[in-house]
Order: sequence, then structure tokens, then C-alpha cells
Amino acid sequence: MSPLSIRTRAPRASSSAVRRKMQAVPRTDSGPEILLRRMLHGAGLRFRKEFQASSGMPRADIAFVGPRVLVFVDGCFWHGCPKHFEQPKTNGSWWLEKIGATMERDRRQTKLLRRNGWHVIRVWEHELAPQSLGVTVGRILARVKR
Ligand SMILES: [Zn+2]
Repeated sequence: MSPLSIRTRAPRASSSAVRRKMQAVPRTDSGPEILLRRMLHGAGLRFRKEFQASSGMPRADIAFVGPRVLVFVDGCFWHGCPKHFEQPKTNGSWWLEKIGATMERDRRQTKLLRRNGWHVIRVWEHELAPQSLGVTVGRILARVKR
């Protein structure tokens, strides 16, 4: 099943819970992401935002072009976080299929980028929570400064 056909069969946001989740799409420049960028910047790192390594590839939220490190921040719902993804009660099977396709695409693109010599760091949205942010920044620093 292609992603397009999944889209054309998209259910309306019928329940308020689903609607809330859809609105909670962590978009670029969401609060936690800004905080992450600020911390990296504060650590003396310089990087690009929304960087596309090559055409057809997804834009990395943060890119260190010299050391070839790409950071993607993945929303817990949209990218199927093992800790936080919850199948919506309404249209559950459609959602499972959609999120499954996203996870598959993430894996495929990560593999492709790595094959092209990029270090790919995927960060869960929940890893930007205040209690985890320091560890996440450390993980990125360790890779960039290697
Ligand atoms: Zn999560």
C-alpha cells in the first residue's frame, strides 16, 4: 500500500482525542526543538536548520555539515515511539497502517543517508523533555566533536 493511497483514505479527525494529537504535530520550531538548538548553540556548535542532504531526502532538523551529522527530531505519535505511541480508538487500523508506513520510510531514509556517509541521529520528541535534554545534547555533542 503506497503512502498516497493511505492519504486518500484518511479518516476525518472524528474524535477530539485524535484531533488533539493531529494538532500536536511537533512542527519545526516547536518549543523543545528551539531549546535544543539553543543549548547546542550555547555549547559553541554551529549548524544549519532544515537541511536537505540530497534531493528526495527529508530535511534534517539540525545539520552539522562539516562532520556530516544530521539530527532528526521525531514526534512520538507520528513516528511511532515505542513508549508513547498509542493507537487512536477511532480508525485505529488506518492509523496503525499510516504510522507503520512512516516508520518504514524513516528506516529506509536513515539507511540511505548512512550509506551516503552521514551520521544520522534520531531523537524522540520525549528526549527533549527537561529531564532528558541534557543527555540528548551530550549524545549529539559526542558525535559532532568526534
Ligand atoms: Zn516518546
